[in-house]
Amino acid sequence: MKLLKLIANLGYGSRKDVAAMFREGRITDAEGEVLYADDKVGHEAVRVDGEPLDPPAGMVLMLHKPTGYTCSTKDPGRIVYDLLPPRFRLRSPLLSTVGRLDRDTSGLLMLTDDGALLHRIVSPKAKLSKVYEATLAGDLRGDEGEVFASGTLMLESETTPLAPAHMETVDARHARLTLTEGRYHQVRRMFAAVGNHVEALHRSRIGGLALDGLPPGEWRLLGADDIARLF
Ligand code: URA
Repeated sequence: MKLLKLIANLGYGSRKDVAAMFREGRITDAEGEVLYADDKVGHEAVRVDGEPLDPPAGMVLMLHKPTGYTCSTKDPGRIVYDLLPPRFRLRSPLLSTVGRLDRDTSGLLMLTDDGALLHRIVSPKAKLSKVYEATLAGDLRGDEGEVFASGTLMLESETTPLAPAHMETVDARHARLTLTEGRYHQVRRMFAAVGNHVEALHRSRIGGLALDGLPPGEWRLLGADDIARLF
């Protein structure tokens, strides 16, 4: 792919904008030598304003989503993309969230432009575990773990029972829930089904991948070793 098209596809600007960036000498190699739109240079060697190029298609990142942000691009309020460089929204192929977290849920959210990987993670067949830390309005009554593990719990307006889920009691009002599916508002609806209310919800883990100290609102690129930890 020509350098100009490659850089435009990464969201740095339209082809016209990127052509202007070349003319202004803003696109260089690692030694600061000015590059031209037709140059054939490996992705890793290119610098824009002295900074390495964003990763090519196949980019995967994780974000520590704070509460108050939605995963939709259409929401008029704050959206998770506001926490990333604006050019990430202009990339082709598009960067999508891997599943969703509710506006009021915090925690580990992945984004990728790799459709096959996204499918592997969210597909119910993959049975990839997701761990949620729930803060409850009322004390646990004691039988929730058994109910959630039964594989018979039917949520309102659903036609199939939930797959068995594992619940660990942290204390009377805190539970750690491990799910292998991702239905709409699933954790909140599960606790509602056993007469409780989720006051705060945080996703701490997807498969073997955890936030590992990444602060709320921050993101980092994921590499092959991170992806391997997922499955
Ligand atoms: N379950 C919920 O209820 N909300 C989320 O954001 C994720 C899982």
